[in-house]
Amino acid sequence: MFAGKLDSARCLVVKIGSALIADVDTGEVRSPWLENFIEDVVRCFARGQQVIIVTSGAVALGSRNYNRRDKGLRTEEKQTAAAIGQVRLMRAYEQALKRHGLGMGQVLLTNEDIEDQHRRLNVRSTLQQLLKIGAVPVVNENDTTATAETCLGDNDRLAAWIAELVSAEFLILLCNVDGLSTEDPHVNPLARLVTEVRCITPEIDAMAGHPVTHYSTGGMVTKLAAARIVMDAGSTMVIARGNKPHPLAAIENGGPSTWFLPR
Ligand code: GLU
Repeated sequence: MFAGKLDSARCLVVKIGSALIADVDTGEVRSPWLENFIEDVVRCFARGQQVIIVTSGAVALGSRNYNRRDKGLRTEEKQTAAAIGQVRLMRAYEQALKRHGLGMGQVLLTNEDIEDQHRRLNVRSTLQQLLKIGAVPVVNENDTTATAETCLGDNDRLAAWIAELVSAEFLILLCNVDGLSTEDPHVNPLARLVTEVRCITPEIDAMAGHPVTHYSTGGMVTKLAAARIVMDAGSTMVIARGNKPHPLAAIENGGPSTWFLPR
């Protein structure tokens, strides 16, 4: 019912989960997926929209160096994996965008950059300048410098802060489920997809589960935290499945998704 609104937005922030961009078994970028997703981004640019990508995947792409992903990595190992994986991640985005004549700029942030007014304004100005010259900002947390005290911890909230900072009308979280369900759909196949949320009630909170992987920190809990930020800022957040062809077009065409509407 709301799907058509995406194409009229001035600015979209799109967050990519680790499982979409990274093949954790091989430590390689899922290039066919990325190339297909970038076609969606190019289509948005072609109709005059601004797109900011917030991407996870650095830790997942760098963690094969430790060869024990099943047990999870210690903090310093995650930071090292991110240092290695971030290069692979950015190279993949750069190449995919370049094929369509688009440039990109890497923006790495920590909590301190968001909390400090001066630094926050610098971030906004850089994002605006990148968009002005037709380069796609590609944002991630600076995992290598973030400590327990300064880390944002998850890119869902980072993406929400970015959306608020640039007054984007939409934040789209692409992940490996269709959206928020009444129960975990992996556990109960009868779980229903919630298509529209106008207020995050205790009942909605109760539907969120827990983070499930060692290489990413997201899950429905952080997605609801992101939704609160976006809804309070008067914008809309959409959660949808990313592992399908042209996931942004699928949302526009009314595909399964959960819409968190502004207050
Ligand atoms: N910044 C982490 C990475 O790039 C991911 C954080 C998250 O999963 O939200 O691997």
